[in-house]
Amino acid sequence: MDLEYLILPHCHHDHYPGLPQLLFYRRMRQRDRDGLRPLKIIGPAKDLERVVKLSRDLLLADRFPDVDHVPEVVPLSPGDRFECPTFHLETCNTIHALRGLCYRYGDPGGTDFGFTGDTAYHPPIARFLKDCPFIVHEAAHGLRQVENARESGHSSAEDAARIAKDAQAIDWAWFTSKKRM
Ligand SMILES: [Zn+2]
Repeated sequence: MDLEYLILPHCHHDHYPGLPQLLFYRRMRQRDRDGLRPLKIIGPAKDLERVVKLSRDLLLADRFPDVDHVPEVVPLSPGDRFECPTFHLETCNTIHALRGLCYRYGDPGGTDFGFTGDTAYHPPIARFLKDCPFIVHEAAHGLRQVENARESGHSSAEDAARIAKDAQAIDWAWFTSKKRM
């Protein structure tokens, strides 16, 4: 119930099937929480509004307004920036079967991290996340090297490491000194 923001990297089916349940649960518990603010859902412009609408349709929101939790939808396109008092997001595109966003999160406390969502190896991501101290990069292929990796829309662990290295997310001096210990 403390969740204020939900950030989707893209709208493939395995990334949002819990959304109707989340909206339903929030609505049910809303009675116990005075002044609960609407959930804000951030994601790629093309699919986000449809997915949120379909989630509410699944709950038959028009017939049962009692279960309808109306979230705020924040559709973003690559290059867009989102700002609120507690944090900001910058976005760049990914290489995937449908529109996805890679996010760079920052806040007034100096937290700075990147989150790619599903993507094939995409060197612009390293430039976008330059000097980011912490990156969450997908590596669905694991240790496998896949033919037509770009068409697969996913990365290997080596691809993820290459992005981290090119973004200089890894402090190699620190890493090497730890390895020697
Ligand atoms: Zn996907």
